[in-house]
Amino acid sequence: MGLIICDKHGETGFMPLVSKELAETILANKSLGNKGVKFVEVIFIDEDDGEEFQRLRYWMSQKCFDNLNAKKSYIIQSDEDEIKLDKIFDPIMKGGGICGRCFEEYMESHNYRYTL
Ligand SMILES: [Zn+2]
Repeated sequence: MGLIICDKHGETGFMPLVSKELAETILANKSLGNKGVKFVEVIFIDEDDGEEFQRLRYWMSQKCFDNLNAKKSYIIQSDEDEIKLDKIFDPIMKGGGICGRCFEEYMESHNYRYTL
């Protein structure tokens, strides 16, 4: 996790994988209503040995998730898979990311379920 300087929290951990719309919603402290927040799990498998080497969560609003018609998880095993993944998520993830503490405070204050 990289570091950022947050206006509210000072130097703090950065969560890069938060969609742009969700990051903006959090910074504006707007509610997402009862739909809340959703993550897509992305599992990277080594093409050669078939071992999982990385597992990421892409965070977004439930509404955004529905609009994308996204799956709950994606397995990435080849460059081709990665290109497909980027095609789906680049438009919403680009320009996103947020201070980890702002994220946590937002989730807690709105009672959205999440685990990091
Ligand atoms: Zn913050």
